[in-house]
Amino acid sequence: MTRVYNFSAGPAALPEPVLRQAAEEMLDWHGRGMSIMEMSHRTPDFEGVIAAAEADLRELMGIPANYKVLFLQGGATLQFGMVPINLLRGKTSADYIVTGSWSEKALGEAKRYCDVNVAASTAAANYTYAPMQSELKLDPNAAFVHVCTNETIMGVEFPYVPETGNVPLVADMSSHILSREIDVSKYALIYAGAQKNIGPVGLTVVIVREDLLGQPLPGMPTLLDYKVHADNGSMLNTPPTFAIYMAGLVFKWLKGQGGVTTMEQMNIAKARCLYEAIDGSGGYYRNPVRPTDRSRMNVPFTLVDDALDAIFLKESLAAGLSSLKGHKSVGGMRASIYNPMPLAGVEALVDFMRDFAARHG
Ligand SMILES: *Cc1c(COP(=O)(O)O)cnc(C)c1O
Repeated sequence: MTRVYNFSAGPAALPEPVLRQAAEEMLDWHGRGMSIMEMSHRTPDFEGVIAAAEADLRELMGIPANYKVLFLQGGATLQFGMVPINLLRGKTSADYIVTGSWSEKALGEAKRYCDVNVAASTAAANYTYAPMQSELKLDPNAAFVHVCTNETIMGVEFPYVPETGNVPLVADMSSHILSREIDVSKYALIYAGAQKNIGPVGLTVVIVREDLLGQPLPGMPTLLDYKVHADNGSMLNTPPTFAIYMAGLVFKWLKGQGGVTTMEQMNIAKARCLYEAIDGSGGYYRNPVRPTDRSRMNVPFTLVDDALDAIFLKESLAAGLSSLKGHKSVGGMRASIYNPMPLAGVEALVDFMRDFAARHG
């Protein structure tokens, strides 16, 4: 068996050493004669696993002490609703910066709970850039400002942190959390589905400033109240134990790699390699995103003729390059190059792209 270079947008590639360790521990975790999956979450063993995962995440991201780290379920999509449910706090409107499919979906869900002000939308430009600070029409009375800092489908990444004054800033970082250094204190709440850049699906990480907790909309299910999760150490009910364990292994792996600083340098190098190949292809390959706002994690590109798409996918897979099909709303290809993707994988893709262009010119 040979492992492919997996460019899937999510669920996505995991670090091979993490998979190997999980495989080794599958039948017998730390001499307990059972896998972590088969163990009660109400055991000192699992409590140690979740505590270590939180401690390592706090260290990796430099999460300040006045922030809670929650390990939830329901995906980033449930956060589209949980954010307004918890953060409206008596206010009636929220600001949404709309830069692609995911922020559009977040806005759509928020409309169920409040008035929504579109602080900026790049829809008219087919979501090919991140609006600049001067383009944001922010309402000082909004309950919060929501931004998707990396649009996974369009491949647009914010190169700056929107300045929102006293209004809490909420970010969907599902597809680039831990890929670059960020200042957590600039955000009121950060959420991320794990299956892009953290671990397997089933876990959603929420990092939230504790002073914002405790005023959810009335009548909502208990499980949608962040404070209840915070007060119960993310274990009000059975948490996604295996996904938390896997995320913990990924955090340890990241620390071993040199942490987020080293990852960011690698991610810059990987993204540069791929965008240079696209831009240097004489128009054979194209990425429409404004260069300053191009995602380091998700790189969509089209071929000169979409009749070549199927051949590209077939030949790339045969060359050990998997899951390059673009999202149906954008077409073409998309290479997701999250933390576990080595530079060698991107170089293999770039070599393939050059060769393909030469053969199908
Ligand atoms: C994948 C993704 C989502 C949706 O995640 P689910 O876990 O499927 O709910 C939301 N936002 C972003 C930025 C994503 O990449």
